[in-house]
Amino acid sequence: MNILTFDIEEWFIMDDARIIPHTTWQGLQSRIEQNVDTILSAISRHNMKATFFIMGWVAEHYPDLVRQITASGHEIGYHSYYHMHPAQQSPVEFEDDLVKGLGLLEEITEQKITAYRAPNFSVSLETSWIYPILAKHGISVSSSLKANTSLSDQKVNSKPVRIKTNHGDILEFPLNRVSLPGLNLVYSGSGFVRLLPYPLIRLLFSFSEYNMAYFHPRDFDLHFPGHRAIGKYRHLRSSINASTTMPKLNKLLESYYFNTLGEAFTVYGTMRHKTIQL
Ligand SMILES: [Zn+2]
Repeated sequence: MNILTFDIEEWFIMDDARIIPHTTWQGLQSRIEQNVDTILSAISRHNMKATFFIMGWVAEHYPDLVRQITASGHEIGYHSYYHMHPAQQSPVEFEDDLVKGLGLLEEITEQKITAYRAPNFSVSLETSWIYPILAKHGISVSSSLKANTSLSDQKVNSKPVRIKTNHGDILEFPLNRVSLPGLNLVYSGSGFVRLLPYPLIRLLFSFSEYNMAYFHPRDFDLHFPGHRAIGKYRHLRSSINASTTMPKLNKLLESYYFNTLGEAFTVYGTMRHKTIQL
């Protein structure tokens, strides 16, 4: 099964969102509405639906954008308020962030939010404490870590894994990684799709029964500005080959059927999986 997801954040959210203090974000050029428009048009041409993981800060400042995505029939998940990695927060701070963001998204969409993605797929053994907190607040689906990450004493493969917590189960949908000698290659999203040649992406998609595709609005933006705090290297890494993202996404959508995470949960939720007890 192929799953299509987008992480809805502004162009200036990089690997570490603290590079630019969030108190100054509103003064920066906004590119998110036009970039999300581009994404919505592209996937509607292929009659597909996707899951959009939205930052709390984005929902606070662009509630109509959230309504537009919902009205287009797509699913909404939560992607942290200010893009802080769980490792940058205490469990109490993480829970406060989760409650605030879920409340906001649920108010705007008038729906229960049950899906979560940690910033940069950053969950690891050290931050697996987020799962009981997620379950406690009604999250049943997560896509928050990269395959080949160890949780508890078990390694997560490139397929869904059931995580059992004292507050209920979470089905975790990891980001695929291909293990090659000396390399743990991501191929199904963002910068990796921008950099890898399409025939290789297609080959790797066809090798796996499970593919988690993910993109940011910025991946489709040919003209987002630079910023002194981001620097030339980070800007280049985030923008290189952006002109190839949409043609590659279009080819993927022509070649494969993609599901939302909710649809994937319906299918995988009834199947047996590796189980990790936290
Ligand atoms: Zn993100």
